[in-house]
Amino acid sequence: MKKKIFALLFGITMVFTFYACDPETGAINLFSDSDDVQLGLQVEQEMAGNVAEYPIFNGDPSIKAYITQRIFNHILASPDVKKKSVFQYKLEIVHKDDVYNAFALPGGPVYVYTGLLKYLDSEAALAGIIAHEIAHCERRHATNRMTAYYGVSILISLLLGQNPSELAQIAANLFVGIGFLANSRSDENEADEYSVTYLRNTRYYPGAVKFFFEKMRDDGLVSSQSNSIATFLSTHPDPIDRIKDADNRMKAFGIPVISYTSNNSDIYRNEYLVNIKNKLP
Ligand SMILES: [Zn+2]
Repeated sequence: MKKKIFALLFGITMVFTFYACDPETGAINLFSDSDDVQLGLQVEQEMAGNVAEYPIFNGDPSIKAYITQRIFNHILASPDVKKKSVFQYKLEIVHKDDVYNAFALPGGPVYVYTGLLKYLDSEAALAGIIAHEIAHCERRHATNRMTAYYGVSILISLLLGQNPSELAQIAANLFVGIGFLANSRSDENEADEYSVTYLRNTRYYPGAVKFFFEKMRDDGLVSSQSNSIATFLSTHPDPIDRIKDADNRMKAFGIPVISYTSNNSDIYRNEYLVNIKNKLP
């Protein structure tokens, strides 16, 4: 018996040491990269079975093609996006005009709502949000959180050999509470930070993740009671803080601080109108 306990403890140490620890942040994640991909695929399937909640946009296909090629793939090409050969990155548009949001599933699928696309007014603003969502995937925030949530039970099942039905069960739970996907303040912070890293290798202003919040602030939506905004605000840290943090990051890099209303050449306002916004129904 003592031997068994020793073996188990030794195994746990090995898992933590070789498999689970993020070398940059020290975050413990007991899922593998391919678990992330599997989880994302399974949640995607669940979403496909709930068209009322997640109606995929089936209007003009050139909109999604344009965003994918021009913005999404451009950001993925950054050398700092490291898991693109393992993860299955792709962009989908959810057709809900009253939702000002975007989210990512583990392992690569990124979703933006038509409400957000209609609200934004430049390619840089959308690039900022997409870079932020890609960062949630790259930094594996969902499975980090799930590790903290499921903890030891996952660890034991990993040690005793993979149990595929367990992963399916976890995916089902993940879907039921897409609330589970609500990121912590520090995850949001990290995703904002990485969005700068990714955008620095693109044609877009690197601090663009804040443009959405600045526009919301100027439109008086930050304190809005409307359902779509209230949901957004309850799942995200204070937008005003995030604007400040974003500006401080730019100053630290020696990059000029500009606002979402700027007409600088790295904003691409007209391109956004012509190829995205004006094509939406
Ligand atoms: Zn986020």
